[in-house]
Amino acid sequence: MKRFWIVCLWMGFALFCIPIQSQETKRPMVVLDPGHGGVDTGAIGVNGIKEKDIVLEVAKEAIQLNKELFRNTLNIYLTRYKDTLISLSDRTSLVKALQPDVFISIHCNQAKRKTAQGIEVYVQQPNSNTDFDLQSKSENLSDAILSEFDMALGFKIGGMKYANFQVLRDTQYVCPGVLLEVGFLSNWEEAEHSRKKEGVVGFAMAVLQVLYQNFKLQG
Ligand SMILES: [Zn+2]
Repeated sequence: MKRFWIVCLWMGFALFCIPIQSQETKRPMVVLDPGHGGVDTGAIGVNGIKEKDIVLEVAKEAIQLNKELFRNTLNIYLTRYKDTLISLSDRTSLVKALQPDVFISIHCNQAKRKTAQGIEVYVQQPNSNTDFDLQSKSENLSDAILSEFDMALGFKIGGMKYANFQVLRDTQYVCPGVLLEVGFLSNWEEAEHSRKKEGVVGFAMAVLQVLYQNFKLQG
């Protein structure tokens, strides 16, 4: 009889766990990669702000908004949570280990020409070994990000570009991935926008909106 109750208890526990487990596996996983960190400041803004700080704030804000406004619908991981320098290969190793549904590296832009403005999104340059299914998903993601930053935030759109960045090259067979440059720190107007809390929240919100649309989730 004792064994009967143990079996009942075990089955009850197993049934209780199933919905939690299946709900968990349904949450799309996203890795956000705030560029630079630690001694590597990235670009320094004309107003003194540092790229490494802005991109970390954007990534952390995305986690916060996903929790507060979207019931934690996405399972978001960051490649760094603090002001520390993580090597590019450690970042891509994490992506390979986690096998997320989407990877987005976040950076700020800079140019010698102080009037250069806008959003740029980079996709891995296609090559003879390109997985064209993942490639087209990355390009669609890039288009969606560009139109969201244009329509929702009114940013000038620099367009999608191809590049051979290590973070994209080493993760190109894992999942769709893009490298996003959220404005030019060499431009006064955009550097000031990035310095403000509402600027950071706007960037994070735009990225989240694109991800929710990408996974066809209800916000
Ligand atoms: Zn950068």
